[in-house]
Amino acid sequence: MNPATITLALSKGRIFDETLPLLAAAGIEVTEDPERSRKLILPTSRPEVRVVLVRATDVPTYVEQGGADLGVAGLDVLIEHGGAALYQPLDLGIARCRMSVATRADFDYPAAVRQGSRVRVATKYTAIARQHFADKGVHVDLIKLYGSMELAPLTGLADAIVDLVSTGSTLKANQLVEVERIMDISSRLVVNQAALKLKREPIRRLIDAFGRARPEQAS
Ligand code: ATP
Ligand code: MG
Repeated sequence: MNPATITLALSKGRIFDETLPLLAAAGIEVTEDPERSRKLILPTSRPEVRVVLVRATDVPTYVEQGGADLGVAGLDVLIEHGGAALYQPLDLGIARCRMSVATRADFDYPAAVRQGSRVRVATKYTAIARQHFADKGVHVDLIKLYGSMELAPLTGLADAIVDLVSTGSTLKANQLVEVERIMDISSRLVVNQAALKLKREPIRRLIDAFGRARPEQAS
């Protein structure tokens, strides 16, 4: 591969979709639709820039290990991964949602917390949940799940879940209530440290263009 090539790791779905306008602002157009193509490496209108499609949770690994020079990953994914080796120059302000605690409507969460009882918490986000309840001094039994966390309180597997919420309609459809907001989540640009040194100019230009193009209210 040409040493001047810039590889950007994205996940399909909302991160890909919401990164497209930022790329466009940098003069980069992705010339193939990932929902139609089976390709995992997508060319762009700029011969030196390509996009690799990876699972959202794999973006930090690709960028950290140099499989990609840059990537876009949710703050949730970055915290769970432990992002110490990654340069994180920008909050892109895209894929916004929040990390929250939810329970069944008939579970008295404030009382459980007040009484210091052990709360059974099911989540995919064990690092965030562990830290949150440790900060509150609440004893928890964490149950690691990989999907459909809403089912856990409904089946008696757990008292509460820690999950991403945007509109709240999934919680509502399953008769769960959001009882505590843990943190606001958005997606961040992450950069490989060595690539930043070796390809400083083109990467800087990308960071600057993304910074100017990101939606209002991004910090
Ligand atoms: P997969 O769906 O492949 O299991 P995933 O759930 O991590 O993986 P996405 O659903 O595309 O992948 O989510 C990617 C990122 O978008 C998440 O890490 C999070 O930061 C953010 N996100 C997740 N759900 C929402 C939502 N409902 N609204 C806005 N942003 C969200
Ligand atoms: Mg998902």
